[in-house]
Amino acid sequence: MKTKGIHHITAMVGDAQENLAFYGKLLGLRFVKKTVNFDDPGTYHFYFGNESGAPGTIITFFPFKGIQKGTVGTGQVGVTAYAIPEGSYLFWQNRLSEHGVSYEETERFGERYIAFEDPHGLKIELVERASGENSRYEIDSITTDVALKGFAGATLYSHEPVETARLLSETFGLKRTKRTETIDRYESDGELGNTVDVAHGNLPIGRPGMGTVHHIAWRADDEADQIEWMKEVNRFGLLTTEVKDRNYFTSIYFHDAGRILHEIATDTPGFDVDEPFESLGESLKLPEQFEVHRGAIEAHVEPITVEKGTLV
Ligand code: ZN
Repeated sequence: MKTKGIHHITAMVGDAQENLAFYGKLLGLRFVKKTVNFDDPGTYHFYFGNESGAPGTIITFFPFKGIQKGTVGTGQVGVTAYAIPEGSYLFWQNRLSEHGVSYEETERFGERYIAFEDPHGLKIELVERASGENSRYEIDSITTDVALKGFAGATLYSHEPVETARLLSETFGLKRTKRTETIDRYESDGELGNTVDVAHGNLPIGRPGMGTVHHIAWRADDEADQIEWMKEVNRFGLLTTEVKDRNYFTSIYFHDAGRILHEIATDTPGFDVDEPFESLGESLKLPEQFEVHRGAIEAHVEPITVEKGTLV
């Protein structure tokens, strides 16, 4: 079996409005779903992606105001990388500078990266990639020829890099394509979210909290495929949770030996299952079981203002 690559990445952050301003405006992603954490309905769960929130483009957040800052380190996805269209590197340098976001330029495997942190400490990179379709969502001065396409990939900080790498190759069907002394690259056949770097060496142990990734989700086609994935993970020697209904996909979860929390999520049904494509993200969507508590939930979560872009 082979996954197409990353489905989504989920992180813990601080203030909800700051999170929206950064991803929905400064980075220009489309805010595709405003809902609550299905396991903790008193808190928001935000989803951002390309125009439709396609698998491989989705970053999701649990914003908790006043949460303690975490430490990026082993047992986590250390860095989340976005693919930007070729020729847009300078645009993004300028945009970050204009908005007072300091960045570094780094290089690995022959590609140059713009590396920075979001307002809550999450580590983000931008890298030019030819693969992957341009987003069809525009906001502010971010036109489709420069807009983030979706994930390039992620760098995993494993507590047991050899074991995490074995999971990627033996279970997920990724191929090791490049290697240095400190980092190995694995690739899937997908167009986006298809390069996964596994860091080796002396990294600090991660502590969950604001500015850290909670889990990384990999793509399964549909619910039947997901059951096969569950068996595949079991064959590798790891136990998964039961299938959980996340409304926009179904999920199973498990930890690897390197303490990273993985999820396998289905490509179907997607974000237009409970609101029209044209107005994704505009109203608070709740799963059926929480609709009876809508009044209490709406009174509890902090009001936010969403700036809308244009579908092209
Ligand atoms: Zn998830």
